[in-house]
Amino acid sequence: MSQLLSLVVPCYNEEEVIGETMKRLHAFCDEITDLDIELIFIDDGSRDHTRQLLRSFAAEDERIRVIGFARNFGHQIAVTAGIDAARGDAVVLIDADLQDPPEVVHQMVAKWREGYDVVYGTRTERPGESAFKLATARSFYRLLNKLSDVPIPLDTGDFRLMSRHVVDTLRAMPERDRFVRGMVSWAGFRQTALPYKRAERFAGESKYPLRKMLRFATDGILSFSTKPLQMSIGLGLSAATLALSGIFYALVMRVFTNEWVEGWTALMIAVLFLGGVQLICVGILGEYIGRIYNEVKHRPLYVVQEYLGYGEHAPALSRSPVVDRK
Ligand code: UDP
Ligand code: MG
Repeated sequence: MSQLLSLVVPCYNEEEVIGETMKRLHAFCDEITDLDIELIFIDDGSRDHTRQLLRSFAAEDERIRVIGFARNFGHQIAVTAGIDAARGDAVVLIDADLQDPPEVVHQMVAKWREGYDVVYGTRTERPGESAFKLATARSFYRLLNKLSDVPIPLDTGDFRLMSRHVVDTLRAMPERDRFVRGMVSWAGFRQTALPYKRAERFAGESKYPLRKMLRFATDGILSFSTKPLQMSIGLGLSAATLALSGIFYALVMRVFTNEWVEGWTALMIAVLFLGGVQLICVGILGEYIGRIYNEVKHRPLYVVQEYLGYGEHAPALSRSPVVDRK
């Protein structure tokens, strides 16, 4: 029996591209003769016709399975659901907007056969992205690497192939804040980069507006580093040192020149400065505590409204809050 390759495709409001994506994926599947293929689409609570389109695809082709979320849970959670559902010996994560060319997967498979457990695509070019997105993405990956305890490859998205070992490791990681590319780096095994040219979005708009991008970046940093906490100690210490030099200055003036340092201005600056430093530190602390709160609630990571293309083997739609993801 030949090995199984699972392709995981998260989709959110992608009605404009999904038809073309399906064509390209079909062409890709036809080119692969020595592997069985399953296609797992996750409809992340789309509000357009994505679900209907996916439904018709699943009805026509038994290699296609669809997981329909009850609402929009976000890209990283959609990818997680795909990883949970995939049965393949290797699993490929690929965006629905054709920015990650399916043809590159051939090279990923070749590397996997050489014995690599993770083959991640590194973007050499990103045409069609705004200068702002390029600059922020570039600095984000560099900052993340400075802060993170595990090295996370630069300019690398979620487009990657993972072996069964890695997929099982990810499935055993129950955390809520899922920064999948970091989690894969953390897992280890033999990893290698595959440079590729990221295409332009086929149609439609990016589903990552600035707000989501910022959230995503904070998630990445906070779930892979506690350095912001150490930095807030550093900030506090510097503020204290500044205050101490002020005290020292005031004392010296008092003792040697017999003058009190005057100063409503100095007072205000000190109060506001300290207030600011404290609020920043409390904010950082709050971000971590908020995440702890989310973790301890133990809600399921996602809620599935329907499984399509599973035939009789569709998993039960559990109502229980305790979902055994293993
Ligand atoms: N996506 C998703 N849920 C979301 C946002 C995005 O499943 O809440 C999917 C989207 O359909 C696409 C992939 O994640 O397949 C990447 O999103 P997008 O192309 O909008 O991001 P960008 O490439 O602009 O960073
Ligand atoms: Mg995209």
